[in-house]
Amino acid sequence: MHVNPGTAVKSPVRQTALEVARAQFDAAAEHLGLPDDMREHLRQCKRELVVHFPVKMDDRTVRTLTGYRVQHNVARGPAKGGIRYHPLVSLDEVRALAMLMTWKCAVVNLPFGGAKGGVEVDAHELSSDELERLTRRFATEIALLIGSENDIPAPDLGTNEHIMAWIMDTLSMHQGYSLPGVVTGKPVPIGGTLGRAEATGRGVAIVAKAVLERLDRPIEGVTVAIQGFGNVGFNAALAFKAMGAKVVAVSDHTGGLFQEEGFDLSDAVDCRGDIHRCVSDGKADPVSNEELLELPVDILVPAAIEGQITAANADRVRARYVVEGANGPTTNQADRILADRGVTVVPDILANAGGVVVSYFEWVQDFSRYFWDLAEVNRNMERVLRQALAEVASTAERERVSLRTAALIVAVRRVTEAIRLRGFYP
Ligand code: NAD
Repeated sequence: MHVNPGTAVKSPVRQTALEVARAQFDAAAEHLGLPDDMREHLRQCKRELVVHFPVKMDDRTVRTLTGYRVQHNVARGPAKGGIRYHPLVSLDEVRALAMLMTWKCAVVNLPFGGAKGGVEVDAHELSSDELERLTRRFATEIALLIGSENDIPAPDLGTNEHIMAWIMDTLSMHQGYSLPGVVTGKPVPIGGTLGRAEATGRGVAIVAKAVLERLDRPIEGVTVAIQGFGNVGFNAALAFKAMGAKVVAVSDHTGGLFQEEGFDLSDAVDCRGDIHRCVSDGKADPVSNEELLELPVDILVPAAIEGQITAANADRVRARYVVEGANGPTTNQADRILADRGVTVVPDILANAGGVVVSYFEWVQDFSRYFWDLAEVNRNMERVLRQALAEVASTAERERVSLRTAALIVAVRRVTEAIRLRGFYP
C-alpha cells in the first residue's frame, strides 16, 4: 500500500467516527425492528485491548507507544480487520472501524466478524528498523487476541505488506513454525495471494459497472472522477479504463488534473505516487480536490480519506453516482442531501469490499496450502461482489431505502441471525 502523510489531515466530519457508525447501525436496526437487547449488544465492541509498549529507537532512546486491537463481533467467524499506524488513531476510531468491518464482511457474506487495530504513531518519522521493532513488539502485545483461528489483521493506513510479513514472522517465531494464516495482505512468496494489491480498486469498478448494468447502462464511455490515487484510486482508475470508461479526473493530496477526453493511463503503472508525472501528457487542466468532487461526471469515486462529501458541498456534487472507494468519505448529512437530489451512493462497505473478499481468499489458500492463479482470484471476487450488490439492491428496492441502509440491513440481519442461532452464552 502506498502510504501518504496527507492522510493525517483532520476530518471535517463533526460527528466522531463511532457516532457515525452507531447512527448508521441504528437506522438499520430500526428497519429490522431489532429488540433493544440486540441493539445494545451490537452497539458495543466485544473485546478491546489497549497496550502501551516500549520501542527502542535508533538513537538508543525508548519511546512508549499506545496501540489498540478491538474485536466488534465474532458471531459469524474469526474477527477480520486492518492495522493502522497513524498519529490520530484513537480507541473510538478503532471501535468504529471494527464495527464497520463486521458489516463489511457480513454484507459480502464472508465467514468473518469485524476487528480493527492501530498504533498512535506517524510511521513516516520512523526508520525501517524502528518500524520493524515497533511492529514485532506490537504484534507480541496483541498476540493475546490475534491468530489465524480467531482474529486476522491486514494492512490499513500507514501499514503495508512488509509490516504484515513482520507480524506473521513474529507470531510464527512464538509458535515454532510458520503461521501464514495469521495475517492477510502478505507478500506473495510467504503465503500472500495474487490479486490482493489491486483487489479493492478493481472491486470499486466492478461494483460500479454492476450498478449501471442493473439500469441497462453500459460502462463504456461513462465519465469517472477519482479522488485519491493510492492503492484504491489508482487500481480503480486502471480497472475503469480497462472496462472502457473514461477517467477524466484524478487527484492526490497535492491536487488534481482534469482532461475531458480521458486519461490514457497506459504508462501509469509504478508512478502512482505522482499523478502529474503519471497521467499528464500536458493536455490536462489542474483542479483542486474540492473542484474534483463537483465535476459534471457520471461517476465520482472518493478514494482518499474520510469526510470529503459533507453538508457544505453535497448540493454541488454533479455526479449521478458516488461509489465510495474510501471508508466513510460521505457524512450522514451529505448522504441525505445526495439522496434528496437523486444521486445514488454506493456505500463503502459494499463498494470497497473487494479487498477483504480477496483477503478471505488468501486466508483460505493459506489453510489449504493450495494457491490459485490470478484469473481464479479475480473471477471469484467478481462473483462475490455481484452477488452482494444484487442482494443489497433488491433490499433497497423492497424496503425503499438507500443502498447504504440496505447494505446495513443485509449485514445486520446476517449477524443477528448468527447470534440468535448460537444463543447468548451461557
Ligand atoms: P493510500 O495511502 O494508498 O492512498 C491514499 C491516496 O489519497 C493518496 O493518493 C493520497 O495522496 C491521497 N490523499 C491523501 N489525503 C488526501 C486529501 N486530503 N485529498 C485528496 N487526496 C488525498 O490509501 P488507500 O489504501 O488507497 O486507501 C484509501 C482509502 O480507501 C482509505 O479510506 C482506506 O481506508 C480505504 N480502503 C482501502 C482499502 C485497501 O485495500 N487499500 C480497502 C478498503 C478501504
